[in-house]
Amino acid sequence: MSELNLILLGPPGAGKGTQASRLTEDFGLPYIGTGDLLREHKRQGTDLGRQAKEHMDNGGLVPDDLVIAMILEKIDEEGDDGFLLDGFPRTLPQADALAEELEKRDRRLTAALLIDAPDETVVQRLSGRRQCSAGHLYHVDFDPPKHEGVCDQDGKPLMQRKDDEPETVKKRLATYHQATEPLKDYYDERSLLRRFDGTRDVTEVHDHIRATLATLRLEERL
Ligand SMILES: [Zn+2]
Repeated sequence: MSELNLILLGPPGAGKGTQASRLTEDFGLPYIGTGDLLREHKRQGTDLGRQAKEHMDNGGLVPDDLVIAMILEKIDEEGDDGFLLDGFPRTLPQADALAEELEKRDRRLTAALLIDAPDETVVQRLSGRRQCSAGHLYHVDFDPPKHEGVCDQDGKPLMQRKDDEPETVKKRLATYHQATEPLKDYYDERSLLRRFDGTRDVTEVHDHIRATLATLRLEERL
């Protein structure tokens, strides 16, 4: 079977997380989220984790080479048949570094999956989210509680996370666009970019991605 070496791109609120968990299940791929990976290394106190922590404690960003080392370690351990990478690359030098390291292993990316949604959709989806202190989730338009502002399950008040406030969402989107637009072009030029409409129903998006990956695998065998 041919490998599925995938990266996920897309704005917050476009359904990347849901698609990621379905895809890792469908294809038995390890999910490599850079946030999770960093936390895991820090918790386990690995060399890489300690080095990363030093940078973060000094108020800096974790350097690319450390993050790449963590990703490659995970790929080497669990990713023989492929992987699903989320949250990396975020810059063109990172994209180049990843391609280079894969090439050293005689591998290459199969596709960059972009799950896209217009800004107004993202703002509506995220700024409408509410949750209680026990973590029960609602959406004021799509999944409202029976009584406004109160959790159906435990009667606790519903709140909006700071991350989901409209102004914060707009800032997150601006950061996203600035970082990701060049990456879209980068992968498009290399014929690796595949676009999916994140405004569609979750299952529809999932079916579309599966069909696309099946075609890619067929093409590789020809
Ligand atoms: Zn609740």
